[in-house]
Amino acid sequence: MSDQSNKKIVREIKVDLDKCIGCRACEVACSGFHASPKYSSFNPSRSRIRVVQDLVNDVYVPLRAGEYTAAECTGRQTFKIHGKQYTECNFCPASCPSRDLFKEPDSGLPLKCDMCADEKMPMCVEVCRPGALTYEEREEERAEEEPALGEVETGLQSLLHKHGAQKVMDTIARLSQDK
Ligand code: SF4
Ligand code: SF4
Ligand code: SF4
Repeated sequence: MSDQSNKKIVREIKVDLDKCIGCRACEVACSGFHASPKYSSFNPSRSRIRVVQDLVNDVYVPLRAGEYTAAECTGRQTFKIHGKQYTECNFCPASCPSRDLFKEPDSGLPLKCDMCADEKMPMCVEVCRPGALTYEEREEERAEEEPALGEVETGLQSLLHKHGAQKVMDTIARLSQDK
């Protein structure tokens, strides 16, 4: 009998670039699902998936927001694809200080794909009619690892990097008094 406690479910979204038509329905669905209240606004700049366009090759690349990083890379790779040069940043999913991608536009806080939390099917996959995004679940052995940071912790971490601990604590204290 297998030891279920040592297993985890890995949720994966596969991308088939040959099928992506650049309709950006995934961006709209993601931003609406994560709006507060849900579906009260549809703003792709708040989406956790963004479709990057390669004009030369007429290819669309859907990228899901990955980890927050406090510092941009100082050593980067470049790629040459069909004669056009790309940097690592072109296809990087990080919320990074070097660009505005995957940052909440009003607050600047990092956005990260949460696989639509407990939804059976991620919203971006649900609305992708051409079938460029497909969803899979599989079971894997669980490795001993650090617990992942939640959304609030990641947001606080980015504020601490940006403004420093004292300013963040003073602001929290002031806001708590206003309540
Ligand atoms: S919804 Fe699908 S086809 Fe449309 S841009 Fe997103 S990934 Fe591409
Ligand atoms: S966007 Fe990505 S690859 Fe580019 S500097 Fe930031 S973390 Fe590095
Ligand atoms: S899985 Fe959900 S949170 Fe992640 S990009 Fe798709 S719609 Fe957005």
